[in-house]
Amino acid sequence: ARQFFVGGNFKMNGVKESITSIVKNLNAAKLDSTTEVVISPPALYLTLTRELADPKIGVAAQNVFDKPNGAFTGEISVEQLADSNINWVVIGHSERRVILKETDEFIARKTKAAIEGGLSVIFCIGETLEEREANKTIDVVTRQLNAAAKELSKEQWDKVVIAYEPVWAIGTGKVATTEQAQEVHAAIRQWLGASVSAEAQANVRIIYGGSVSEKNCRELAQKEDVDGFLVGGASLKPAFVDIINARI
Ligand code: 13P
Repeated sequence: ARQFFVGGNFKMNGVKESITSIVKNLNAAKLDSTTEVVISPPALYLTLTRELADPKIGVAAQNVFDKPNGAFTGEISVEQLADSNINWVVIGHSERRVILKETDEFIARKTKAAIEGGLSVIFCIGETLEEREANKTIDVVTRQLNAAAKELSKEQWDKVVIAYEPVWAIGTGKVATTEQAQEVHAAIRQWLGASVSAEAQANVRIIYGGSVSEKNCRELAQKEDVDGFLVGGASLKPAFVDIINARI
């Protein structure tokens, strides 16, 4: 059985004081011990978060570069993250794809570099509203996944959690219906079987992101192929604990 996974993507929010208080609240809360929890603060606060957080809570960077080191001003390397005990990284978030113009190929190379350097990856995919309305959802997520499959060996998919985040649902309060989420998650699982391996199809977690809240998480969590969530706005609030505990 796949372990339920809940990620908290803080995005570019918080300062030392507020992040300290979020992490201390999580440490003190009663979290479903069967759920894997990973939080992703801004880069400057990764080491603070790693020092403060209960060791059971994973910490993820929100980005990483594909080259090992060198003249890449402003970037952070895989080795630097691993050296700071940061074992996870979010790659391919739609905000980076859309606002920072990251391509499928660049995202795939970063994913490869992260895994080769010992990190696990929350690999984000998802369609825009325009793409959904043109019935291109499955084509878009398949294209994003195929780019990663070109770079990764079949075994390397063990280190990947796929986050399906429809762009129209991110930060909008417009959550996908449980049927919409399940339909795309099932298609992704089918893609894993056809393009990676039977093991990947059975074992890779596929989590949903986009306006997840303490109100809608329970119903989504019941769907067969929804193995958890990637939470933005609500991960900054006490409600994050209720989302982690969506199945109890
Ligand atoms: P919201 O939960 O704020 O919609 O953000 C989702 C997201 O982008 C998580 O990566």
